[in-house]
Amino acid sequence: MPYSINFLNNQYKRKVSIIGTGYVGSTIAYALMLKELAREIVLIDINKKSAKGEALDIKHGIPYMGSAIIYDGDYSDCSDNDLIIITAGRNRKTNESRLEMAEDNIRIVNNVVNQLSKYYTKGIILIVTNPVDIITYKVAQWTGLPNGIVFGTGCILDSSRFVNTIADYLSINTEVINGAIVGEHGESQIPIWTKVTVAGVPIDEYCDSIGLQFTQVEKDMIPQKVKGMGTEIILDKGKTHYGIATCVCYLADAILNRRATIASVTSLLEGEYGVNNVALSLPCIIGSNGVEKRIIERWADNELKLFKDSEKRLKSVLARV
Ligand code: NAD
Repeated sequence: MPYSINFLNNQYKRKVSIIGTGYVGSTIAYALMLKELAREIVLIDINKKSAKGEALDIKHGIPYMGSAIIYDGDYSDCSDNDLIIITAGRNRKTNESRLEMAEDNIRIVNNVVNQLSKYYTKGIILIVTNPVDIITYKVAQWTGLPNGIVFGTGCILDSSRFVNTIADYLSINTEVINGAIVGEHGESQIPIWTKVTVAGVPIDEYCDSIGLQFTQVEKDMIPQKVKGMGTEIILDKGKTHYGIATCVCYLADAILNRRATIASVTSLLEGEYGVNNVALSLPCIIGSNGVEKRIIERWADNELKLFKDSEKRLKSVLARV
């Protein structure tokens, strides 16, 4: 797809299109409006009536909270965006893994990208549709855009669940905890325990100092809980959308307001940890150019091995689809 490298010199309109306005897309639109992160929000869906209804419903609260020009549109509205968010696709059924949705959602997102490419000139493309690593890889390939312009939410939600679960265990505010999950947004995700800190103090050292048990048992139990959280919510209510919408707002703020941040998101790897030709999550610097840098950390050998396992697992799916 043609791409205007000079778009940063243009006036920033903070215009965002959301393609797919089901639970996830409409919740993202609502959160963007409440947080006043976008000036203009366009809702696009194959079901035009539903996109129109969602746009009107969100718009009608604006006199009292938030702001944005919000309307339903079509792909021609994607010609001058700062951010395009793709959530189109079917969601996960009970007891289904994310990878089992690959073929259906590749087909749907391929259709989306074909239509989008007729109008696209600029803007970050953020993938939310699952399996997000596979879809991000495919969209990066189909569009041929510079690395980092296309990226996916990846493990940002898992990292947030990880921090939440650690905070609960330590009985302390999430704000002081730093930690990331990397690799696949799915079964083979990896907690990077060696880098988890509490107010800058390594977690083992912190637990020692406050006399709290923190052994391999806790190190296994916490990530196990985190991995199952999506499934647990789907069993309870059939879908997940609030958590991911909040994560997307965090990324949108970095992109639209040039408030560069760091989060574990998925993008096409270029030799990091010896891995190529697959999209996986790593902590990345995210700013107005999307993923601007992937951060290489010194991991423990077992963390590195698990990352390679994640690579193998994703590559075997890519070879099949
Ligand atoms: P949903 O069924 O409520 O909404 C999907 C929307 O996509 C529907 O409105 C549908 O009409 C639309 N759509 C389908 N085909 C389309 C096409 N060709 N063009 C445009 N729109 C099309 O599903 P949802 O709960 O909103 O979930 C959407 C996706 O987000 C799923 O793949 C889900 O697994 C994923 N998700 C990802 C994360 C994450 O962490 N990455 C978290 C939650 C959900």
